[in-house]
Amino acid sequence: MGVEFYACDCCGDSRYEEYVDHCGSCGHTLGTCCVVNDYIGSSYAYDYGVRYDGSEDQIEEYEIDPENYEIDDIIDDSGIDPKFCPFCSGKVVAKEDLLNFLLKKYGLDFEEVKEEYLAEKGVDRP
Ligand SMILES: [Zn+2]
Ligand SMILES: [Zn+2]
Repeated sequence: MGVEFYACDCCGDSRYEEYVDHCGSCGHTLGTCCVVNDYIGSSYAYDYGVRYDGSEDQIEEYEIDPENYEIDDIIDDSGIDPKFCPFCSGKVVAKEDLLNFLLKKYGLDFEEVKEEYLAEKGVDRP
């Protein structure tokens, strides 16, 4: 009946959509199973959203109408606040992020590395 499951990028488990959201900064899909610095203790991803602090920065970034928010309200569609994100806090490193970092650092091209890898594996390519 329309319940969606999403896989947490951190532990790989699939969870109800209410328990999963994207990190507002790195964009990883994150379940409340793996949040860090957790002083909220909730299963619902929404509770880990970014809270309105009244700053001009937030008003601009999230296109907030200050009329609609009070200080400490959770900003709609803000995703999970990066301070709860294991990737943003450096507690967990995603292999994909690491790969992209290495490619960039050594000026490598993903397709070229892939070809080299498959050649070394001896995969017959059409
Ligand atoms: Zn998880
Ligand atoms: Zn993040």
